[in-house]
Amino acid sequence: MRYGIISDIHANLEALETVIDALQEAKVDEIICLGDVVGYGPDPEKCVELVRQNCKYSLAGNHDHALLGLIDTRFFNQFAKKSVEWTKVQLSKKSTEYLHSLPLIEKIENFTIVHASPSRPETWNYILSIDDAADNFTYIQGVCCFVGHSHVPIILEKNNDNKVVIKRNYNLELDQEKQYIINIGSVGQPRDLDPRAAYAIFDSETYRFDLARARYDMSITQKKIIERGLPAYLAERLSSGQ
Ligand code: ZN
Repeated sequence: MRYGIISDIHANLEALETVIDALQEAKVDEIICLGDVVGYGPDPEKCVELVRQNCKYSLAGNHDHALLGLIDTRFFNQFAKKSVEWTKVQLSKKSTEYLHSLPLIEKIENFTIVHASPSRPETWNYILSIDDAADNFTYIQGVCCFVGHSHVPIILEKNNDNKVVIKRNYNLELDQEKQYIINIGSVGQPRDLDPRAAYAIFDSETYRFDLARARYDMSITQKKIIERGLPAYLAERLSSGQ
């Protein structure tokens, strides 16, 4: 099976539509969403609808849970907090119920998916380094765990001697003898200084993994952020990818 994998859409409809088109063109069999469909961006309802229609597997992220009142937003930055409040009144009952129904972690064939970290998905810990990854490998079922959350792509590989290394190549065949934690980056708010939407394709038979980027017309998204009264910084950061 060839899976298209997306994460951290953050209500950016233009980026999401572009990525779904690219995945359909690539003829993937199924699309997986790793969560954070809403928050920050101007089109939460349409993005939830698109994810519901297009993704066979879909997980909850911390912004989805914040919106549902399932986590405390005390530690959210002011922009995130403001957008959570704004998003709450934008979503239909159907979309709210859909977000409520999403699991935190799931195993599909020979890999695991989670928004934040496989060891304790509900604590929303970030995996940003070799140290962060270390004991998370124990909780992975299969060859690989795909994660989102940080909005920064990274591939961590655990060798047979339990040593974890960071891979610099985002297009590779995974070694079945090893284990991987792969952050696939963000569709709607990349933070690796590349403003293009990020997404991935994984072939569960050949173990081929490819991270891809897509340009989209972000000026439309930025205009809507301003028009809808969301913080201007949320529009600005899209241009620089941070
Ligand atoms: Zn996010």
